[in-house]
Formats: sequence, C-alpha cells, structure tokens
Amino acid sequence: MSSIGRDLVFLVLQYLHEKKFEETAHKLERESGLFFNMSYFEESVLAGDWEAAERYLSGFTKFDDNPHSTKIYFEIRKRKYFQALDRHDKVKAVDILVKDLSVFSSSNEDIVKELTLLLPLDNFRKKEELSEYEDTQPARVTAMEELKWLIEANPLFSDKLQFPPIGTSRLRTLTNQSLNWQHLLCKYPSPRPHMETLFVDHCCPHPNFAPGESSRAAGGGS
Ligand code: ZN
Repeated sequence: MSSIGRDLVFLVLQYLHEKKFEETAHKLERESGLFFNMSYFEESVLAGDWEAAERYLSGFTKFDDNPHSTKIYFEIRKRKYFQALDRHDKVKAVDILVKDLSVFSSSNEDIVKELTLLLPLDNFRKKEELSEYEDTQPARVTAMEELKWLIEANPLFSDKLQFPPIGTSRLRTLTNQSLNWQHLLCKYPSPRPHMETLFVDHCCPHPNFAPGESSRAAGGGS
C-alpha cells in the first residue's frame, strides 16, 4: 500500500471512531492490518471471547509467523480449551484439542499431552495444583498481561501499536479545504456559497441562472 493509501485508511479509521462506528472500525483495523487496537483486543480477552480475540489477531499475524506469534495463538487457544472444560463442555474441549491445539504438537508435544490429560477430570476446577488452568477473571487478567507482552515484543507489531498523531477530525478539515479551494475557482463566487454535497465539485451558479443550471453555466462557458 502506498503511503497516501495508508494515510487514507487512518483518516477513515479516525472518522469511524469519532462517529462511534466501532464495529466497522475494528473490522477495518483487522482487514487493513495497519493498526492493532490493544484496548479492543483486551476487551475480548477479559470477556473470555477467545474466538473474537483470535479473529482480530488473524488480521495481523499467522500462528507460525514467528515464535511470539506461535505463543500468542497457543495462549488464546489454551484459554479457550480451559473455558470449555470449566463449562464441562467435553465435546467442545475435544474439538479445540483436535482442531486448535494439535498444530502445536510439533513444537510443544509435552504441553499438548498435558492438556489432553485434563480432559477426563470432572473436578478439574477443584484441584488446587491445577488452579492455573482455570478460566476465571483473574486468570484472564494474567493471560492478557502475558499476551500484551508477547504482542509488544513481536516485531510484526512494532509499527502497528500506535495510532498516528492526526489532528482532530482530519478528514473533515481536508474536505473543508477542498471546498474552499473549489469556491476560489468559481467564476461567479457567491458571498454565501451553497455547499451541500461532496459527490461533485462545488460551483457557484451564474447569478442569472436557477441553481439547477449552475454546472453548465460555469463549466460550459456558453
Ligand atoms: Zn463557489
């Protein structure tokens, strides 16, 4: 993407955030891969919405991009597994083991085996030595601290964690500048110009014509 192209995405992102189109903004952050919104990611993690956290992350890195990325994905999927165990949803837990966690067997066979051993335990929550495997609120806070550290240390995220310093409502400012410039080109500039659309260039009508005939009056010169 060209640097102007990147800037345009950031201007749109700023506009979306200012207008509270949050869902669309996070989608654009993910689709463009230009800005990783740590607060939004943290919200998903603290809510235990591991699927949303992983979906968002996927716009920025794949699980095997580098060791940091692998650890991030592993942590998310492990927590998702604990959550299923906590809810005694064995079907879901097996599904996560097979589909999400087995890919880590090659790099970390022991831990995947260890996780598998938790599956038949009915009183998994009560075993004190397994307390670190709980999916409770404090456990999510701890997980987020670790995830944050891994993301900040990941070179793929180095230029994506800070939103660029853009003046407030920058897109609106540029629009106003463009309209002012268009008005400067008007052949018959009105002291109080009508500027009601951005879809076509502004042009003050000829003083003797009705407003609908403005473009022909100024552009055609006939
Ligand atoms: Zn004008």
